[in-house]
Amino acid sequence: MLSVSDILKKENFSLEDIVALLSSSKEDRSLLFQTSAKVKEENVGNIVYFRGLIEFSNICSKNCYYCGIRKDNKNVKRYNLSDDEIIEAARFAWESNYGSVVLQGGELESESFTVRIENLLRRIKEISNGELGITLSVGEQSYDVYKRWFDAGAHRYLLRIESSDKELYYKIHPLDDMHRFERRLQALYDLKSAGYQVGTGVMIGLPFQTLEHLAADLLFMKEFDIDMCGMGPYIEHTDTPLWENRGMLIPLEDRFDLALKMIAVLRLMMKNINIASATALQAIDPIGREKALKIGANIIMPNITPGMYRDDYKLYENKPCTDEEAADCKNCLEARIHMSGNKIGYNEWGDSLHFNEKK
Ligand code: SAH
Ligand code: SF4
Repeated sequence: MLSVSDILKKENFSLEDIVALLSSSKEDRSLLFQTSAKVKEENVGNIVYFRGLIEFSNICSKNCYYCGIRKDNKNVKRYNLSDDEIIEAARFAWESNYGSVVLQGGELESESFTVRIENLLRRIKEISNGELGITLSVGEQSYDVYKRWFDAGAHRYLLRIESSDKELYYKIHPLDDMHRFERRLQALYDLKSAGYQVGTGVMIGLPFQTLEHLAADLLFMKEFDIDMCGMGPYIEHTDTPLWENRGMLIPLEDRFDLALKMIAVLRLMMKNINIASATALQAIDPIGREKALKIGANIIMPNITPGMYRDDYKLYENKPCTDEEAADCKNCLEARIHMSGNKIGYNEWGDSLHFNEKK
Protein backbone atom coordinates (compact mmCIF):
# COMPACT_ATOMS: atom_id res chain seq x y z
CA MET A 1 0.00 0.00 0.00
CA LEU A 2 1.18 3.52 -0.81
CA SER A 3 2.07 5.91 1.99
CA VAL A 4 0.03 9.08 2.44
CA SER A 5 2.90 11.21 1.17
CA ASP A 6 3.13 9.05 -1.98
CA ILE A 7 -0.63 9.27 -2.54
CA LEU A 8 -0.49 13.04 -2.20
CA LYS A 9 1.96 13.18 -5.11
CA LYS A 10 -0.49 11.46 -7.47
CA GLU A 11 -2.55 13.29 -10.11
CA ASN A 12 -5.61 11.05 -9.69
CA PHE A 13 -6.75 9.14 -6.63
CA SER A 14 -8.22 5.65 -6.67
CA LEU A 15 -10.92 4.60 -4.22
CA GLU A 16 -8.24 2.91 -2.10
CA ASP A 17 -6.11 6.06 -2.11
CA ILE A 18 -9.03 8.12 -0.87
CA VAL A 19 -9.85 5.63 1.87
CA ALA A 20 -6.22 5.80 2.99
CA LEU A 21 -6.35 9.62 3.09
CA LEU A 22 -9.64 9.57 5.02
CA SER A 23 -8.19 7.17 7.59
CA SER A 24 -4.98 9.15 8.10
CA SER A 25 -4.10 10.32 11.59
CA LYS A 26 -1.53 12.57 13.27
CA GLU A 27 1.39 13.52 10.97
CA ASP A 28 -0.29 12.10 7.88
CA ARG A 29 -3.40 14.12 8.53
CA SER A 30 -1.31 17.28 9.03
CA LEU A 31 0.42 16.60 5.75
CA LEU A 32 -2.95 16.18 4.02
CA PHE A 33 -4.19 19.48 5.46
CA GLN A 34 -0.98 21.35 4.58
CA THR A 35 -1.17 20.09 1.02
CA SER A 36 -4.85 20.95 0.59
CA ALA A 37 -4.32 24.42 2.10
CA LYS A 38 -1.57 25.05 -0.43
CA VAL A 39 -3.67 23.79 -3.34
CA LYS A 40 -6.48 26.06 -2.21
CA GLU A 41 -4.22 29.10 -2.00
CA GLU A 42 -2.73 28.43 -5.44
CA ASN A 43 -6.01 27.82 -7.21
CA VAL A 44 -8.74 29.88 -5.59
CA GLY A 45 -6.68 32.14 -3.31
CA ASN A 46 -7.28 32.90 0.34
CA ILE A 47 -10.54 34.72 -0.33
CA VAL A 48 -13.81 33.71 1.25
CA TYR A 49 -17.11 34.60 -0.40
CA PHE A 50 -20.28 35.21 1.56
CA ARG A 51 -23.68 33.80 0.65
CA GLY A 52 -26.31 35.21 2.97
CA LEU A 53 -28.49 32.22 3.85
CA ILE A 54 -32.24 32.83 3.99
CA GLU A 55 -34.07 29.80 5.35
CA PHE A 56 -37.39 31.04 4.08
CA SER A 57 -39.64 28.15 5.10
CA ASN A 58 -39.52 24.86 6.98
CA ILE A 59 -42.61 23.47 5.28
CA CYS A 60 -41.57 20.32 3.42
CA SER A 61 -43.42 17.60 1.56
CA LYS A 62 -40.66 15.03 2.02
CA ASN A 63 -39.73 12.63 4.74
CA CYS A 64 -35.96 12.19 4.66
CA TYR A 65 -35.09 10.00 7.66
CA TYR A 66 -32.33 12.30 8.94
CA CYS A 67 -34.01 15.68 8.80
CA GLY A 68 -35.68 17.50 11.68
CA ILE A 69 -38.14 19.38 9.47
CA ARG A 70 -39.40 16.28 7.63
CA LYS A 71 -43.09 16.32 6.88
CA ASP A 72 -44.14 13.77 9.50
CA ASN A 73 -42.39 15.50 12.38
CA LYS A 74 -45.28 16.95 14.34
CA ASN A 75 -43.02 18.64 16.90
CA VAL A 76 -42.05 21.48 14.58
CA LYS A 77 -43.72 24.85 14.43
CA ARG A 78 -44.02 25.42 10.70
CA TYR A 79 -43.27 28.86 9.30
CA ASN A 80 -43.14 30.54 5.95
CA LEU A 81 -41.52 33.96 5.68
CA SER A 82 -43.58 36.55 3.84
CA ASP A 83 -42.21 37.73 0.50
CA ASP A 84 -41.45 41.10 2.08
CA GLU A 85 -39.47 39.50 4.90
CA ILE A 86 -37.42 37.58 2.34
CA ILE A 87 -36.77 40.73 0.33
CA GLU A 88 -35.74 42.57 3.51
CA ALA A 89 -33.25 39.82 4.33
CA ALA A 90 -31.86 40.04 0.78
CA ARG A 91 -31.61 43.81 1.16
CA PHE A 92 -29.65 43.30 4.38
CA ALA A 93 -27.23 41.05 2.48
CA TRP A 94 -26.81 43.59 -0.28
CA GLU A 95 -26.34 46.53 2.09
CA SER A 96 -23.80 44.49 4.04
CA ASN A 97 -21.85 43.98 0.79
CA TYR A 98 -22.41 40.23 0.73
CA GLY A 99 -22.09 39.30 -2.92
CA SER A 100 -24.87 36.70 -2.91
CA VAL A 101 -27.79 35.13 -1.13
CA VAL A 102 -29.02 31.56 -0.88
CA LEU A 103 -32.74 30.88 -0.74
CA GLN A 104 -33.18 27.57 1.03
CA GLY A 105 -36.27 25.81 2.27
CA GLY A 106 -38.32 22.66 2.45
CA GLU A 107 -39.15 20.97 -0.82
CA LEU A 108 -42.49 21.77 -2.41
CA GLU A 109 -43.54 21.15 -6.00
CA SER A 110 -46.44 23.18 -7.34
CA GLU A 111 -47.17 25.91 -9.84
CA SER A 112 -47.85 28.41 -7.07
CA PHE A 113 -44.50 27.62 -5.44
CA THR A 114 -42.73 27.96 -8.80
CA VAL A 115 -44.35 31.35 -9.42
CA ARG A 116 -43.56 32.53 -5.91
CA ILE A 117 -39.86 31.75 -6.30
CA GLU A 118 -39.84 33.30 -9.78
CA ASN A 119 -41.24 36.56 -8.38
CA LEU A 120 -38.84 36.56 -5.46
CA LEU A 121 -35.88 36.11 -7.80
CA ARG A 122 -37.02 39.05 -9.93
CA ARG A 123 -37.59 41.25 -6.90
CA ILE A 124 -34.18 40.44 -5.39
CA LYS A 125 -32.54 41.35 -8.69
CA GLU A 126 -34.55 44.58 -8.79
CA ILE A 127 -33.75 45.81 -5.29
CA SER A 128 -30.04 45.10 -5.75
CA ASN A 129 -29.63 46.60 -9.26
CA GLY A 130 -28.92 43.09 -10.47
CA GLU A 131 -25.90 42.96 -8.19
CA LEU A 132 -26.78 40.15 -5.76
CA GLY A 133 -25.92 36.67 -6.95
CA ILE A 134 -28.64 34.12 -6.11
CA THR A 135 -28.28 30.46 -5.22
CA LEU A 136 -31.36 28.29 -4.83
CA SER A 137 -31.71 25.21 -2.67
CA VAL A 138 -35.25 23.91 -2.75
CA GLY A 139 -34.82 20.33 -3.79
CA GLU A 140 -35.94 18.26 -6.76
CA GLN A 141 -37.99 19.99 -9.45
CA SER A 142 -38.65 19.41 -13.13
CA TYR A 143 -36.29 20.67 -15.81
CA ASP A 144 -38.87 23.31 -16.82
CA VAL A 145 -39.08 24.69 -13.31
CA TYR A 146 -35.30 24.84 -13.01
CA LYS A 147 -35.18 26.66 -16.34
CA ARG A 148 -37.84 29.18 -15.34
CA TRP A 149 -35.94 30.00 -12.16
CA PHE A 150 -32.68 30.27 -14.07
CA ASP A 151 -34.32 32.69 -16.49
CA ALA A 152 -35.67 34.69 -13.54
CA GLY A 153 -32.14 35.22 -12.18
CA ALA A 154 -30.91 32.24 -10.15
CA HIS A 155 -27.53 31.05 -11.36
CA ARG A 156 -26.38 28.52 -8.77
CA TYR A 157 -28.22 25.57 -7.24
CA LEU A 158 -27.43 23.33 -4.30
CA LEU A 159 -28.83 19.83 -4.28
CA ARG A 160 -26.93 17.32 -2.23
CA ILE A 161 -26.87 13.77 -3.51
CA GLU A 162 -26.76 12.85 0.24
CA SER A 163 -25.17 9.53 -0.78
CA SER A 164 -24.09 8.37 -4.23
CA ASP A 165 -24.64 4.76 -3.12
CA LYS A 166 -28.17 3.67 -3.93
CA GLU A 167 -28.37 1.18 -1.12
CA LEU A 168 -27.25 3.71 1.48
CA TYR A 169 -29.55 6.32 -0.08
CA TYR A 170 -32.53 4.10 0.70
CA LYS A 171 -31.34 3.51 4.23
CA ILE A 172 -31.69 7.24 4.84
CA HIS A 173 -34.78 7.91 2.69
CA PRO A 174 -38.11 6.11 2.39
CA LEU A 175 -38.26 3.71 -0.52
CA ASP A 176 -41.14 5.36 -2.35
CA ASP A 177 -41.95 7.55 -5.33
CA MET A 178 -41.31 10.76 -3.44
CA HIS A 179 -37.73 9.79 -2.66
CA ARG A 180 -36.30 8.10 -5.74
CA PHE A 181 -32.52 7.95 -6.11
CA GLU A 182 -32.83 8.14 -9.92
CA ARG A 183 -34.89 11.31 -9.66
CA ARG A 184 -32.21 12.93 -7.52
CA LEU A 185 -29.57 12.07 -10.11
CA GLN A 186 -31.76 13.28 -12.96
CA ALA A 187 -32.38 16.54 -11.13
CA LEU A 188 -28.62 17.13 -10.93
CA TYR A 189 -28.26 16.56 -14.67
CA ASP A 190 -31.26 18.82 -15.38
CA LEU A 191 -29.70 21.61 -13.33
CA LYS A 192 -26.56 21.34 -15.40
CA SER A 193 -28.48 21.49 -18.70
CA ALA A 194 -30.54 24.44 -17.48
CA GLY A 195 -27.27 26.38 -17.14
CA TYR A 196 -26.68 26.48 -13.39
CA GLN A 197 -23.45 26.18 -11.49
CA VAL A 198 -24.33 22.96 -9.75
CA GLY A 199 -23.44 22.16 -6.19
CA THR A 200 -23.89 18.85 -4.45
CA GLY A 201 -22.61 17.14 -1.34
CA VAL A 202 -23.18 14.49 1.28
CA MET A 203 -23.60 14.12 5.01
CA ILE A 204 -20.58 12.66 6.74
CA GLY A 205 -20.81 10.11 9.53
CA LEU A 206 -24.26 8.73 8.76
CA PRO A 207 -25.27 5.41 10.29
CA PHE A 208 -24.44 2.56 7.86
CA GLN A 209 -21.90 4.78 6.04
CA THR A 210 -18.35 3.47 5.49
CA LEU A 211 -15.16 5.19 4.35
CA GLU A 212 -15.61 3.39 1.03
CA HIS A 213 -19.01 5.06 0.64
CA LEU A 214 -17.45 8.46 1.27
CA ALA A 215 -14.58 7.79 -1.11
CA ALA A 216 -17.10 6.78 -3.78
CA ASP A 217 -19.02 10.01 -3.09
CA LEU A 218 -15.91 12.06 -3.87
CA LEU A 219 -15.30 10.09 -7.05
CA PHE A 220 -18.95 10.68 -8.00
CA MET A 221 -18.47 14.44 -7.59
CA LYS A 222 -15.39 14.36 -9.77
CA GLU A 223 -17.09 12.25 -12.41
CA PHE A 224 -20.21 14.42 -12.44
CA ASP A 225 -17.87 17.40 -12.69
CA ILE A 226 -19.58 19.51 -10.04
CA ASP A 227 -18.92 23.25 -9.74
CA MET A 228 -19.57 23.58 -6.02
CA CYS A 229 -19.81 21.39 -2.96
CA GLY A 230 -21.38 21.68 0.44
CA MET A 231 -20.84 18.80 2.81
CA GLY A 232 -20.79 18.54 6.55
CA PRO A 233 -21.18 16.16 9.45
CA TYR A 234 -24.45 14.35 10.01
CA ILE A 235 -25.94 15.40 13.33
CA GLU A 236 -28.68 13.24 14.77
CA HIS A 237 -32.09 14.70 15.60
CA THR A 238 -34.43 13.18 18.21
CA ASP A 239 -37.61 13.51 16.16
CA THR A 240 -36.40 11.56 13.14
CA PRO A 241 -36.38 7.85 12.23
CA LEU A 242 -32.56 7.72 12.06
CA TRP A 243 -32.44 8.57 15.78
CA GLU A 244 -33.05 4.86 16.36
CA ASN A 245 -29.70 4.09 14.74
CA ARG A 246 -27.71 6.51 16.87
CA GLY A 247 -25.97 3.57 18.55
CA MET A 248 -24.08 3.01 15.29
CA LEU A 249 -22.68 6.53 15.09
CA ILE A 250 -19.04 7.45 15.48
CA PRO A 251 -18.40 10.23 18.06
CA LEU A 252 -19.15 13.79 16.95
CA GLU A 253 -15.46 14.77 17.07
CA ASP A 254 -14.64 11.93 14.68
CA ARG A 255 -17.43 13.00 12.30
CA PHE A 256 -15.99 16.49 12.42
CA ASP A 257 -12.49 15.24 11.71
CA LEU A 258 -13.76 13.13 8.83
CA ALA A 259 -15.65 16.10 7.38
CA LEU A 260 -12.46 18.18 7.35
CA LYS A 261 -10.62 15.35 5.61
CA MET A 262 -13.39 15.04 3.02
CA ILE A 263 -13.06 18.76 2.27
CA ALA A 264 -9.27 18.52 2.05
CA VAL A 265 -9.34 15.51 -0.28
CA LEU A 266 -11.99 17.09 -2.51
CA ARG A 267 -9.90 20.26 -2.78
CA LEU A 268 -7.02 18.11 -4.03
CA MET A 269 -9.27 16.31 -6.51
CA MET A 270 -11.11 19.40 -7.80
CA LYS A 271 -8.73 22.29 -7.36
CA ASN A 272 -10.83 25.24 -8.51
CA ILE A 273 -14.40 24.44 -7.46
CA ASN A 274 -16.20 26.34 -4.71
CA ILE A 275 -16.38 24.43 -1.44
CA ALA A 276 -18.68 25.67 1.30
CA SER A 277 -17.82 25.44 4.93
CA ALA A 278 -21.02 23.84 6.24
CA THR A 279 -22.84 25.33 9.21
CA ALA A 280 -23.08 21.85 10.75
CA LEU A 281 -19.30 22.02 11.36
CA GLN A 282 -19.90 24.85 13.78
CA ALA A 283 -22.52 22.85 15.64
CA ILE A 284 -19.71 20.53 16.72
CA ASP A 285 -16.78 22.94 17.09
CA PRO A 286 -17.26 26.66 17.79
CA ILE A 287 -14.56 27.48 15.23
CA GLY A 288 -15.36 24.53 12.99
CA ARG A 289 -16.15 26.54 9.89
CA GLU A 290 -12.93 28.55 10.20
CA LYS A 291 -10.97 25.29 10.42
CA ALA A 292 -12.54 24.17 7.14
CA LEU A 293 -11.69 27.51 5.51
CA LYS A 294 -8.08 27.00 6.47
CA ILE A 295 -7.74 23.63 4.79
CA GLY A 296 -9.76 23.91 1.63
CA ALA A 297 -13.20 25.54 1.82
CA ASN A 298 -13.70 29.02 0.31
CA ILE A 299 -17.39 29.79 0.82
CA ILE A 300 -19.34 30.61 3.95
CA MET A 301 -23.08 31.00 4.30
CA PRO A 302 -23.85 33.41 7.14
CA ASN A 303 -27.38 32.90 8.37
CA ILE A 304 -29.46 36.00 7.66
CA THR A 305 -32.85 34.44 8.38
CA PRO A 306 -34.77 36.82 10.69
CA GLY A 307 -33.89 35.72 14.25
CA MET A 308 -37.42 34.89 15.37
CA TYR A 309 -37.69 32.05 12.83
CA ARG A 310 -34.29 30.50 13.27
CA ASP A 311 -35.23 28.26 16.12
CA ASP A 312 -37.77 26.52 13.90
CA TYR A 313 -35.37 25.64 11.07
CA LYS A 314 -33.68 22.85 12.90
CA LEU A 315 -32.53 20.24 10.42
CA TYR A 316 -30.36 18.94 13.25
CA GLU A 317 -29.88 19.77 16.91
CA ASN A 318 -27.38 22.14 18.49
CA LYS A 319 -27.61 24.44 15.48
CA PRO A 320 -25.41 27.51 16.12
CA CYS A 321 -26.53 31.15 16.28
CA THR A 322 -30.26 30.40 16.33
CA ASP A 323 -30.72 33.13 18.92
CA GLU A 324 -28.84 35.87 17.10
CA GLU A 325 -29.87 38.58 14.70
CA ALA A 326 -28.08 38.70 11.36
CA ALA A 327 -26.03 41.82 12.14
CA ASP A 328 -24.42 40.19 15.18
CA CYS A 329 -23.34 37.31 13.04
CA LYS A 330 -21.73 39.64 10.52
CA ASN A 331 -19.36 41.23 13.02
CA CYS A 332 -18.35 38.00 14.62
CA LEU A 333 -17.82 36.33 11.26
CA GLU A 334 -15.50 39.02 9.95
CA ALA A 335 -13.17 38.61 12.91
CA ARG A 336 -13.27 34.83 12.62
CA ILE A 337 -12.44 34.81 8.92
CA HIS A 338 -9.49 37.11 9.34
CA MET A 339 -8.32 34.79 12.11
CA SER A 340 -8.38 31.88 9.69
CA GLY A 341 -5.93 33.71 7.41
CA ASN A 342 -8.50 34.55 4.73
CA LYS A 343 -9.82 37.77 3.23
CA ILE A 344 -13.48 38.40 2.53
CA GLY A 345 -14.55 38.89 -1.08
CA TYR A 346 -17.09 41.64 -0.46
CA ASN A 347 -19.49 42.67 -3.25
CA GLU A 348 -18.42 39.83 -5.48
CA TRP A 349 -20.38 36.85 -6.73
CA GLY A 350 -17.40 34.61 -6.29
CA ASP A 351 -18.58 32.24 -9.00
CA SER A 352 -17.01 28.83 -9.35
CA LEU A 353 -13.77 29.24 -11.31
CA HIS A 354 -14.24 25.67 -12.41
CA PHE A 355 -17.59 26.56 -14.00
CA ASN A 356 -16.17 29.63 -15.72
CA GLU A 357 -13.28 27.62 -17.11
CA LYS A 358 -15.67 25.06 -18.66
CA LYS A 359 -17.68 27.74 -20.49
N1 SAH B 1 -35.01 20.75 1.20
C1 SAH B 1 -33.82 21.10 0.54
C2 SAH B 1 -32.95 22.09 1.29
C3 SAH B 1 -32.96 22.03 2.78
S1 SAH B 1 -32.16 20.65 3.50
C4 SAH B 1 -33.03 19.83 0.24
O1 SAH B 1 -33.25 18.83 0.88
O2 SAH B 1 -32.19 19.90 -0.67
C5 SAH B 1 -30.47 21.03 3.20
C6 SAH B 1 -29.49 19.96 3.61
O3 SAH B 1 -29.48 19.80 5.02
C7 SAH B 1 -29.78 18.57 3.10
O4 SAH B 1 -29.31 18.42 1.80
C8 SAH B 1 -29.09 17.68 4.12
O5 SAH B 1 -27.87 17.16 3.61
C9 SAH B 1 -28.83 18.60 5.30
N2 SAH B 1 -29.35 17.98 6.54
C10 SAH B 1 -30.61 17.61 6.79
N3 SAH B 1 -30.69 16.99 8.00
C11 SAH B 1 -29.43 16.96 8.50
C12 SAH B 1 -28.85 16.44 9.70
N4 SAH B 1 -29.58 15.80 10.60
N5 SAH B 1 -27.52 16.60 9.88
C13 SAH B 1 -26.77 17.25 8.97
N6 SAH B 1 -27.25 17.76 7.83
C14 SAH B 1 -28.57 17.61 7.59
FE1 SF4 C 1 -37.29 18.25 3.34
FE2 SF4 C 1 -34.76 18.84 2.56
FE3 SF4 C 1 -35.32 18.01 5.09
FE4 SF4 C 1 -35.52 16.27 3.08
S1 SF4 C 1 -33.62 17.31 3.76
S2 SF4 C 1 -37.01 16.53 4.71
S3 SF4 C 1 -36.28 17.59 1.43
S4 SF4 C 1 -35.98 19.89 4.11
